[in-house]
Amino acid sequence: MNEFDAIATFFAPLAEGYDGALGLKDDAAIFFLNHETAMVATKDAISEGVHFLGSEDAGLIAKKLLRSNLSDIAAMGAVPAFYLLALMLPAATPSAWIEAFSKGLWEDQQHYGIRLAGGDTIATKGPFSASLTALGTVPYGKALLRRDAKAGDRIYVSGSLGDSALGLAVLQGRLEVSDYGQALALKERYFLPQPRMQLGQALVGLAHACMDVSDGLVQDLGHICAASGVGAVIHQKLLPLSEAAREVIEADDAWWRAPLSGGDDYELLFTVPQARHAEVGALSLALGLPLTAIGEIVAGDGVRVLDAHGMDATPAHKGYSHSV
Ligand code: ADP
Ligand code: MG
Repeated sequence: MNEFDAIATFFAPLAEGYDGALGLKDDAAIFFLNHETAMVATKDAISEGVHFLGSEDAGLIAKKLLRSNLSDIAAMGAVPAFYLLALMLPAATPSAWIEAFSKGLWEDQQHYGIRLAGGDTIATKGPFSASLTALGTVPYGKALLRRDAKAGDRIYVSGSLGDSALGLAVLQGRLEVSDYGQALALKERYFLPQPRMQLGQALVGLAHACMDVSDGLVQDLGHICAASGVGAVIHQKLLPLSEAAREVIEADDAWWRAPLSGGDDYELLFTVPQARHAEVGALSLALGLPLTAIGEIVAGDGVRVLDAHGMDATPAHKGYSHSV
């Protein structure tokens, strides 16, 4: 079965009765600490060969794990605070590897203002894997949820889409990008996510719904639609592409699948009432980060993608899900 069916069937019942679990359907859970502050909690796991290639510098693997959690904290509009780390290390992992892993975390702790507060370290007979739980804070009642999109909202996405999926294709030899600088830029997006912390916090009080795009735009937007009881129409020609991605797609439009349903973007996807469009433009300027309107929330359900001629271009494959 796929991961979402497994969660809905076997684990969601365990969270029944606690509203802050958000039905196990949001980027993080919420705990109300007092009448001013709520805590958000999220957990992500990585495994060699699934989430990273294995040949990377250990510091990069550590940063990718931490940043994928930070992206979920950003998606809630929260400020990161602490994290807990579980490491499943193959026997005889070189201490230099563990040191490089810790150094990567140290560097990102300085950059993102988050600190390690506990965890677990065990030996495993399988490949390296790790799991990280990140905690953050957000003003009481202000967390950004997936369930608050309203028909008529504009749909926005930060940064650019598809670079990471194209970067992985380059790394795996499925795609050739002759320009060295462009190939490098795509690969870097795969190795090192850029969680949109400032944007998430700035969207509190402005965005209706928000989530981070990590498993493919169309699938992830589908989660917002399902949680909010609405539909969405997005326009393929409006999707923000880097120069490298644009060139790849111009050469072979089968690569549209990267921005539409490729993984590891770690951008924020959010909806804003039409009347507040200008505020998004001002925020984009203030942050120096593209925030692109890609479509609108409509009554109904499901995500529809329209191509440049207004024809249906909704991909059959909507995003990544783990089969378990
Ligand atoms: P994200 O991509 O934002 O990290 P996921 O797609 O990994 O979210 O997970 C979707 C939702 O399912 C999240 O709310 C997550 O907390 C929940 N979830 C996933 N696995 C489990 C599990 N084993 N037990 C409880 N909740 C889970
Ligand atoms: Mg998420």
